[in-house]
Amino acid sequence: MSAYQIIDHSYDVIVVGAGGSGLRTTMGAAQNGLKTACITKVFPTRSHTVAAQGGIAASLGNMGPDHWTWHMYDTVKGSDWLGDQDAIEYLTREAPAAVVELEHMGMPFSRTAEGKIYQRAFGGMTQNMGEGPAAQRTAAAADRTGHAMLHTLYQQSLKYDADFFIEYFAIDLIMEDGVCRGVIALSMDDGSIHRFRAQAVVLATGGYGKVYFTATSAHTCTGDGNAMVLRAGLPLQDMEFVQFHPTGIYGVGVLITEGARGEGGYLTNAEGERFMERYAPSAKDLASRDVVSRSMAMEIREGRGVGEHKDHIHLHLDHIDPKILAERLPGITESAMTFAGVDLTRQPIPVAPTVHYTMGGIPTNYHGEVVTLKDSDPDSVVPGLFAVGEAACVSVHGANRLGSNSLIDLVVFGRAAGMRLAEVVKPGALPAALRKDSADLALSRLDHFRYADGALPTAQIRTDMQRVMQADAAVFRTERTLEEGKQKIDQVYTTMKDVKVSDRSLIWNSDLIETLELDNLMSQAVVTMHCAQNRKESRGAHMHEDYPDRDDKQWMKHSIAWFDGWGGKGGAVKIDYRPVHEYTLTDDIDYIKPKARVY
Ligand SMILES: Cc1cc2nc3c(=O)[nH]c(=O)nc-3n(C[C@H](O)[C@H](O)[C@H](O)COP(=O)(O)OP(=O)(O)OC[C@H]3O[C@@H](n4cnc5c(N)ncnc54)[C@H](O)[C@@H]3O)c2cc1C
Repeated sequence: MSAYQIIDHSYDVIVVGAGGSGLRTTMGAAQNGLKTACITKVFPTRSHTVAAQGGIAASLGNMGPDHWTWHMYDTVKGSDWLGDQDAIEYLTREAPAAVVELEHMGMPFSRTAEGKIYQRAFGGMTQNMGEGPAAQRTAAAADRTGHAMLHTLYQQSLKYDADFFIEYFAIDLIMEDGVCRGVIALSMDDGSIHRFRAQAVVLATGGYGKVYFTATSAHTCTGDGNAMVLRAGLPLQDMEFVQFHPTGIYGVGVLITEGARGEGGYLTNAEGERFMERYAPSAKDLASRDVVSRSMAMEIREGRGVGEHKDHIHLHLDHIDPKILAERLPGITESAMTFAGVDLTRQPIPVAPTVHYTMGGIPTNYHGEVVTLKDSDPDSVVPGLFAVGEAACVSVHGANRLGSNSLIDLVVFGRAAGMRLAEVVKPGALPAALRKDSADLALSRLDHFRYADGALPTAQIRTDMQRVMQADAAVFRTERTLEEGKQKIDQVYTTMKDVKVSDRSLIWNSDLIETLELDNLMSQAVVTMHCAQNRKESRGAHMHEDYPDRDDKQWMKHSIAWFDGWGGKGGAVKIDYRPVHEYTLTDDIDYIKPKARVY
């Protein structure tokens, strides 16, 4: 290994990631007097949170009756009873205060005529514990809610005394005897290596949608924190549950927010039929995402898709007053024109189900502390390690996330993590000296890929991986596709041994960074496929045609999976389980018992 000079830093708390969850945690930790640094590979306001469109869910009740218990019921049902109900209670109870907090920070929400925060309907959000009509629960800033939220949080976090290390790529965690002691990062513009020693590390690195070929996620959504956790010998949870959003623009995958259907948009097949009326008679186009995506896939499969190849569906907004479209959906009006050449005030938008969100991730409790199965304790806390946001699996989204429940998850659990950090971290206590080998894993990987001289360019291996995932871990899964998918993805994994990186420098080496990201994606692709093959039931986003029913007796449990390897070496997956928390946080609400999930 070449010699690398290391620059040392010491903090109370290191947050990796500056999306909504990372910024809210950074703010909270700094506010509580902890010496905090936030490391991010992209400029904070370029994190994927900026792309969120439709809104943020909270039972404010600004547009009609609402209650947090109704929001809780919908989230439990949306999760197909895989969500942990203590965490869901925490999320939905805290949600209204979290939105008001954003408002007070200056977030420019859309308003009603009386000046209240505007709220729109979203899939799966109902009144009266699923009995009533749709609830207008999703607060929005037009269709650029994430943009407004991320900029607000970034401005706020500058107010507190936190340090930002921008365009630093975190490579690996520093683990000693099961305790997280810090993180190693590469400064991408000058190639310097940084060792951050800390009492606690918070992973806020986002989802891993880019394991698929077509996704609404940004190119940066490579689940780096998830992969670091696997390399630290810790498991990821519920990785088989990948959300397909019903309305990605056909061919390019750019998102058309669910808010479009919330404002009255509807889907049709080649016969012009509003087919959702057949699949979800009461919620129709506003059934939850897994249900709508599956219905679209069924229509296409049965030959009723639109277009030359009968492989997509039409989304209509052309019946809505153009003034309303201009006010509430300006962003997607532009996207439809740019990416599909469609004037949505007059023509339908061609759409297809597109990978959008990864429900699985790093298992945590509702304080953001990472947990693992240890000595038969399924809730054993990993000292010094936290996770928040899409990287984490709390689990509030279970087998299927409801639209607008992620943005609220970011701020509620970001805040919760900040509060927990204030309890467990002693301000200013210098963490013990690190071992000599603390940077070895990170530097050996960096060095390995920097000089990798195989036959296959990074982009080719990435495409091979994405094609396997797209074909074999799709909306519909069968014993055959999953078995084949498992063999194929294991094979693609081994080709990482033959990767070629052409640029050997350390200054803005995007070839090297993309290769490190690909290595991160690859372990998650393998784990996702293995967990999908392992789960013999259908639940939420995991639709297994050979096991079409939910099986609560056998499978109402979280899968957790360990992965052994990187760079094409090893590659073994071990799967075990954690029980779903079948209890609530307080006596204010009883455990919501499983029942059939119809919309
Ligand atoms: C197009 C789109 C629209 C969406 N719309 C909505 C919506 O309307 N409502 C809703 O609730 N949800 C929505 N979602 C989902 C939601 O936006 C995301 O789940 C959420 O924003 C993720 O936030 P995060 O804080 O976990 O991470 P992200 O915002 O993804 O940020 C990840 C951060 O981690 C950093 N990072 C990652 N790896 C490294 C590394 N190795 N080293 C250093 N830094 C690293 C990045 O620089 C970045 O700052 C949408 C998602 C997409 C893709």
